[in-house]
Amino acid sequence: MEEKRERANIAELFGENVFGDRVMRERLPKAVYRRVREMMTEGYELEPAIADSVAQAMKEWAVENGATHYTHWFQPLSGVAAEKHDSFLSGVDSEGRALLEFSGKNLVRSEADASSFPSGGLRATFEARGYTVWDCTSPAFLRKEGDCVTLCIPTAFCAYAGEALDQKTPLLRSMQALNREALRILKLFGIDDAKWVKPSVGAEQEYFLIDREKYLKRKDLIYTGRTLFGSMPAKGQELDDHYFGVLRKRIAAFMRDVDMELWKLGVSAKTEHNEVAPCQHELAPIFEEANLAVDHNQLTMEILQKQAGRHGLECLLHEKPFAGVNGSGKHNNWSVSTDTGLNLLNPGKRPHENQLFLLTLACVLAAVDTHADLLRLSAANVGNDHRLGADEAPPAIISCFLGSQLEDIVAQIIETGRASSSLSGKSLETHVDTLPNLYADVTDRNRTSPFAFTGNKFEFRMVGSGDSIASANIVLNTILAEQFRLAADRLEQASSVKETAWELIRELLTAHQRIVFNGNGYSEEWVQEAARRGLPNLKSSIDAIPAFTSKKAVELFSAFGIYSETELKSRSIVAYENYAKRINIEARAMINISGKQLIPAAIHYVTRLATSVNQVKSACSAADVSAQEDLLLRASELLSDMKRSREKLQSDTDLAASIQDPAARAAAYHTQIVTDMRILRESADALETVIDKDLWPLPSYGDMLFEV
Ligand code: ADP
Ligand code: MG
Repeated sequence: MEEKRERANIAELFGENVFGDRVMRERLPKAVYRRVREMMTEGYELEPAIADSVAQAMKEWAVENGATHYTHWFQPLSGVAAEKHDSFLSGVDSEGRALLEFSGKNLVRSEADASSFPSGGLRATFEARGYTVWDCTSPAFLRKEGDCVTLCIPTAFCAYAGEALDQKTPLLRSMQALNREALRILKLFGIDDAKWVKPSVGAEQEYFLIDREKYLKRKDLIYTGRTLFGSMPAKGQELDDHYFGVLRKRIAAFMRDVDMELWKLGVSAKTEHNEVAPCQHELAPIFEEANLAVDHNQLTMEILQKQAGRHGLECLLHEKPFAGVNGSGKHNNWSVSTDTGLNLLNPGKRPHENQLFLLTLACVLAAVDTHADLLRLSAANVGNDHRLGADEAPPAIISCFLGSQLEDIVAQIIETGRASSSLSGKSLETHVDTLPNLYADVTDRNRTSPFAFTGNKFEFRMVGSGDSIASANIVLNTILAEQFRLAADRLEQASSVKETAWELIRELLTAHQRIVFNGNGYSEEWVQEAARRGLPNLKSSIDAIPAFTSKKAVELFSAFGIYSETELKSRSIVAYENYAKRINIEARAMINISGKQLIPAAIHYVTRLATSVNQVKSACSAADVSAQEDLLLRASELLSDMKRSREKLQSDTDLAASIQDPAARAAAYHTQIVTDMRILRESADALETVIDKDLWPLPSYGDMLFEV
């Protein structure tokens, strides 16, 4: 029987579980509401009385909606959101009635044990104090798990001395820096009505969905999020028949529930479609200001995983769950706009005359060229090492795609100091009388570029699917703030802002044109060309991590108050530790699975073959048993290879784990352990193709990818 489903009315559902503007206006005293709005947009100090009033309204709203607990919700450096739950219960009155309390203090600040989160040495266990602090610019929301309803308050997480232990604090700092410098530029261009400038972000999220029962039979997926073993099935993604294909019923039902839940949380999930790989999908929201986009992407990942469970599915957010098929990433669409609706990256109808746009563009190119290493680092993680530089993903080299129109304008400016025309779009003839002719975009797409201009925004395509998008946006905001600052410093001294701005645009474009590349980013020629241009090619996370603490990075981040040198050092240590820990888990999982499941299965198989050879021979001595014997020989060989490489992996892992220095330990995992793991996998995967399917203990790639 068809399950009865809740009917969706987006307008009614949207934001139902959010303590957002509408609820605040209804429930807060007028003066308090006004103050909170001012605080959100202009960043005033919060007075205790206001905090008390907001807390009171928030609690009443939450309790009316069934909430029993509240939590400060934050994003520590472990990569997953964290929370500590407290109930609203504060005591019992003389008549035995429960007293509920949630004060301004509870709302604004909470203490969390900082020593249990990664801090890269910022916190020792004996100096554990850390604080979560309310971020009033991201609305509180209700999380509903069956009957259990919790009020979640987005917060920043800092150590006792104020160092950031999370992603939100530096993100907010970077937005502040960008706002300050961009307003200076706008003022120089005579735009005085803008109160603020903020980055807007829309993150397209890719993920895989597989059957949960199969998932539960694979310890590698459970422990590491990816398959550590598995040979390719006869069919992969070569037919491209999954991309944008019709959604199957089970998947469509899942997506609908994801949308509904996200809408209730005020996340504007907009498009959902199948991706390139079998059982790979994508969800894109409508863009919003960066801080909300980061929080909402975190929530999106959580909801995808939760809803998958309800549909008997498992959502894999790992960057490369299956070797040999496309991995998953996140496209971070980014632009910079004012409260008055002016997008600095909007070229308008006559881009060659739009000086503010061209200056912004020149600043972005200068920023990306100067700090390509930091941008690359912002997308570095263990899982993403399988994508970046591999076939389907953007290469590990940062470059910018501009498209034909802007490329032409840039060339004109470099040559003459001005551009006198813009290429225009063309009309597209369908040659079918009943189809309308279309107006084609001025520029085609380039899917191979890691940083592509797409109409009125840049799309940074390197971010890993399981990662927070915070790091990428922290870097983007800060490096643009730096170029805006340099530009404003110069323009403020100029006798003619217009003339000097043209000079500056030309200088920046000339100096940084090497970062522009419109060709095929996946080709080998580009790797060589990029080397000739002197662009960094940081092939793995381990190569990228030193960028955290380079002199250039320390100067940049401390000049804008984003990270102190101490914070940068701590982040690089966290990155090294995280790398080593994750590879260590993968190695141990491989040792375990091969020892407990694969080797026994192989022994079983060879024994079965040997018995069969003996039995056939004794029944009929003339029978040809060469087929069985060949198989027996091959399987025994692979079995002994597997045993040997497993032992090597085991002893090398023990050795790597004992290295004290975080950078040296991570390097050992990167060079030695990753290689050992590859070798062990080769023998196991070869065995899988030889052994009877009913004896192989792990669901195969074919089972997982094509039976959802
Ligand atoms: P594409 O198909 O080119 O990848 P879409 O128009 O589907 O682009 O948008 C992809 C993502 O980019 C969506 O999340 C969308 O909301 C976001 N986006 C669109 N315009 C902007 C913008 N000006 N700034 C930031 N993100 C944007
Ligand atoms: Mg895109």
